[in-house]
Amino acid sequence: MNFDLTPEQESIRSAVTQLCTQFPESYWRERDIDGVFPDAFYRAMGEAGWLGLAIPEAYGGAGLGVQEAAVMMQAVAESGACMSGASSIHINVFGLMPVAVFGTEAQKQRMLPPMAKGRVKSCFGVTEPNTGLNTTKLKTRAVRQGDRYVVHGQKVWISTAQVADKILLLARTTPLAELPAGDRSGGLSLFYTDLDRRHVDIRKIDKMGRHCVDSNEMFIDGLEIPVEDRIGEEGRGFKYILHGMNPERVLLASEAIGIGRIALAKASAYARERIVFDRPIGQNQGIQHPLARNWVELEAAQLLMMKAAWLYDGGRECGAEANAAKYLAAEAGFRACEQAILTHGGMGYSKEFHVERYLREVMITRIAPVSREMILSHIAERVLGQAKSY
Ligand SMILES: Cc1cc2nc3c(=O)[nH]c(=O)nc-3n(C[C@H](O)[C@H](O)[C@H](O)COP(=O)(O)OP(=O)(O)OC[C@H]3O[C@@H](n4cnc5c(N)ncnc54)[C@H](O)[C@@H]3O)c2cc1C
Repeated sequence: MNFDLTPEQESIRSAVTQLCTQFPESYWRERDIDGVFPDAFYRAMGEAGWLGLAIPEAYGGAGLGVQEAAVMMQAVAESGACMSGASSIHINVFGLMPVAVFGTEAQKQRMLPPMAKGRVKSCFGVTEPNTGLNTTKLKTRAVRQGDRYVVHGQKVWISTAQVADKILLLARTTPLAELPAGDRSGGLSLFYTDLDRRHVDIRKIDKMGRHCVDSNEMFIDGLEIPVEDRIGEEGRGFKYILHGMNPERVLLASEAIGIGRIALAKASAYARERIVFDRPIGQNQGIQHPLARNWVELEAAQLLMMKAAWLYDGGRECGAEANAAKYLAAEAGFRACEQAILTHGGMGYSKEFHVERYLREVMITRIAPVSREMILSHIAERVLGQAKSY
């Protein structure tokens, strides 16, 4: 057993950390205030080749695994870029895995290189307002008409749709009522296509944090999708999306830990420096112990996260580990950010110290792409053999 990063992973961590020094916390604070997409960061990551890290080499990427992607995304989040930086590039890094795995050769040639180089921006359209986490009940309809599909429906919480050129869209091609009995997840198809704004009304959601990476309501009215933009077989889209879910959970976990780590580093530094009652506040166990607990929890989450990534890269089942890592990392990251604010006292509430921004951003990892409750239900059912509760 070996818990060390490989030399290659070490060099990814140090190179990405180095690149991120061009985008100090003041940059992310400004983006938090103006809400403008971090284009300079996106371009820099693309030019340095990082966006294609996990895309196969034949299509312009580096062909590395989830372990390397997790190391990279963690370095981004830990630099203080938090979810603003991580979410701006997330879909490039792993979003098009369904294309890489299930697409035709022509689709891979056409779709993957622009994402690997950062020449296009894409968004991921799954969640709907009326179905929530019950994804198999999605209602957005794609109806085949000759050599194209025509789509009508509604999506919500779609990240980066304001700036995206493309959308990876999950839509229903067979009505629920027409599915064979027992086929709960069928009838959905996956498309990667132009986000044609003449047929898609995109409205920004005002939200708690990560202001520079927009979230949106999306009203789709007659969007035409050529058949060549359907990924894999009609009706199997949910299975294709599932394929990318475990790596996505691992990356979210790595990001939550990255945010937790920078929060803990800031809190520890402040605890050493801030003198009250004639001694550093960190000399009080009431301050030390919560910080030590944050370290313990973040380390545990890191081990589970890397185990899940290792299982995935080895082609092994990792559903329980990936979900558990996402759960543990999000909770540990959140507690570290909360403690960082409390350690800073009143200054924790000020924007100057950044820790309040970390808390607002780490909160996302507790909610998306899957909630804590759904993870616990999954583990109760799949690992502990309990009856399905939903
Ligand atoms: C910042 C942000 C960015 C996002 N980006 C994207 C994106 O780019 N693309 C995209 O498609 N989606 C995106 N999402 C959506 C996200 O994946 C969903 O918000 C998330 O999956 C939860 O779904 P929901 O909001 O519909 O919650 P709901 O399904 O309405 O659930 C609400 C609450 O009820 C709980 N609950 C529901 N059913 C049960 C049950 N049976 N047992 C126990 N508890 C239950 C849930 O766990 C949750 O706590 C984003 C969300 C956020 C906040």
